[in-house]
Amino acid sequence: MECTGGCHCGNLQVKLRLSKEPEQMAIRACTCSFCRAHAPRMISDPAGSFEISAADWTTVQHYRFGTRTCDFLLCGRCGVFIAALTDADAPSPRAVVNVNCLDERARFSGMPALHNFDGETAEARQARHSANWMPAILRRESEAA
Ligand SMILES: [Zn+2]
Repeated sequence: MECTGGCHCGNLQVKLRLSKEPEQMAIRACTCSFCRAHAPRMISDPAGSFEISAADWTTVQHYRFGTRTCDFLLCGRCGVFIAALTDADAPSPRAVVNVNCLDERARFSGMPALHNFDGETAEARQARHSANWMPAILRRESEAA
């Protein structure tokens, strides 16, 4: 099925293709310091896809911390956290997505399972991301173009 959503001010827009219904998706909560502050509900579907576009990419924040193995994409205008991507500049990035930014957020009714990835090496982390995260497409061209 297809889900759409985006940030609060409308600058960022996302489109997801999922291999399962939202009710069947496993919801994850991570214990990292970023996720404890934002309390997102994350999903990934390696058999699906994630697409993100922005009216103005210059207002999109790419936040990195810790092992710096991924980019946390936030709207710089309204502050909504959309998704985490393995290197956003890589040719085929992969993503986990915050379902709270989706129009059908209420249908993602699974209980968030808490994951603690502390102590994982950068290599193990990258291997896990490429196996479990979903293929991501970044539409860099602005809508005005
Ligand atoms: Zn916004």
